[in-house]
Amino acid sequence: MSTISVIGTGYVGLVTGVCLSEFGIQVLCMDTDEEKIKQLSVGKISIFEPGLENLLLRNLAARRIKFTTDYKEAVEGSETIFIAVGTPPYEDGSADLRFVLSAAKSIAENINGYKVIVNKSTVPVGTARKVSKVIEDALTQRGAGFGFDIVSNPEFLREGSAVRDFMHPDRIIIGCDNERAKQVMKDIYNVLYLIETPFVFTGIETAELIKYASNAYLATKITFINEIANLCEKVGADVHDVSKAMGLDGRIGKYYLHPGPGYGGSCFPKDTKALVNIGKEYNTEISVVSTVIGANERQKHRMVLKIENALGELKGCTIALLGIAFKPETDDIREAPAIDIIKELIKKGAKIKAYDPAAINNAKNGALKNFDENDIFYSSDEYEAIENADALVILTEWNQFRHLDLIRIKKLMRRAFFFDFRNVYERNQLEALGYYYEGVGR
Ligand code: NAD
Repeated sequence: MSTISVIGTGYVGLVTGVCLSEFGIQVLCMDTDEEKIKQLSVGKISIFEPGLENLLLRNLAARRIKFTTDYKEAVEGSETIFIAVGTPPYEDGSADLRFVLSAAKSIAENINGYKVIVNKSTVPVGTARKVSKVIEDALTQRGAGFGFDIVSNPEFLREGSAVRDFMHPDRIIIGCDNERAKQVMKDIYNVLYLIETPFVFTGIETAELIKYASNAYLATKITFINEIANLCEKVGADVHDVSKAMGLDGRIGKYYLHPGPGYGGSCFPKDTKALVNIGKEYNTEISVVSTVIGANERQKHRMVLKIENALGELKGCTIALLGIAFKPETDDIREAPAIDIIKELIKKGAKIKAYDPAAINNAKNGALKNFDENDIFYSSDEYEAIENADALVILTEWNQFRHLDLIRIKKLMRRAFFFDFRNVYERNQLEALGYYYEGVGR
């Protein structure tokens, strides 16, 4: 098999490139970010993703993976080119396709023979046709008559377990309308075929929609249990027992039924909004998902109200906040509930002392960069954050927050308010130690 190129070396592109090289395939990863490519070429990754750096080093040593910023090199030497660039949301929630279409144009400018162009980015239905048109137009302009096929191959990996998810996926979706391209994709994923991973071959539009439907469904499940959790608080029920019992029903399933401060991350918030937008474009209301988006916003706000109601007044309070990343084992803070919650707490006059094992740099230089040290102080560990705080708030369930020294913490805090928005601790245990405790739905 000839070299495979991957355009975009973010969370998805880098994992794809490294894992394909681990399958024994020659891979060339391309990105427009020169610094990133320089670092990757010497085995340094800029994202926090367990297991990825070791795998990269191993495949660099075996010369199975290379990095470049040169489109010509990436396109000319490979028959198959994956596009894995970002598709962030516009203000109105629709997907910004500029990076995808720009990548398509750059590919087209360098095409030198038959190519299979595989879209791994999450893109609205119809994007593959748009990519195809961009390439056709560029080829016509060049007066070049090379053939190409477009494949939609959405990615379902989860940050934090991305390597495992890529190597052992629940399914591989391949949307294409051409036998030759289908065979190319089968060859690439042959290793997964051999371990009996289910393959779904379908049309391009169907493949594009499967990704959005899956993410919107998971976001709905989380939001459903969050709303049940809110009701549990009112009626004196325990949401963990409710979700456990619900999950035992094979038709429901036990995953994504853990309550919390709202979903976040680089996918669910943008993909739910994009799906609603696709619906609008096709005059089809996706009302369940619209409702989910609103409920998720309210859930984050509800967490702030819980803190405010318990403390009485937020002005002048110091709040120790443990966890900024949208989930453990990642440094990704895109749309993390912590970001909105921190902003609202600061707006209401609280001072934040925050700690996260991996995400502080992203917070400091990204979404929270407009706040100074008077608003948010980044601590070097959880105990420094907790010192002299009026309240402790757990927003990401990193393992190291699961076994805090509760006696030491109580001595360090000014007031013992404990908000466990990931339900890591037991109320009885905390109350017995003299804490005021609140979880979600218990
Ligand atoms: P990312 O922002 O981490 O990475 C995108 C990369 O593309 C960056 O390194 C950027 O420099 C590069 N890039 C942008 N424009 C380029 C161009 N024209 N040419 C070459 N490189 C370019 O994004 P991500 O999180 O990896 O997401 C990529 C896509 O995969 C998105 O559509 C996302 O929705 C989807 N996805 C993400 C996840 C996830 O967990 N992050 C999971 C499944 C699917």
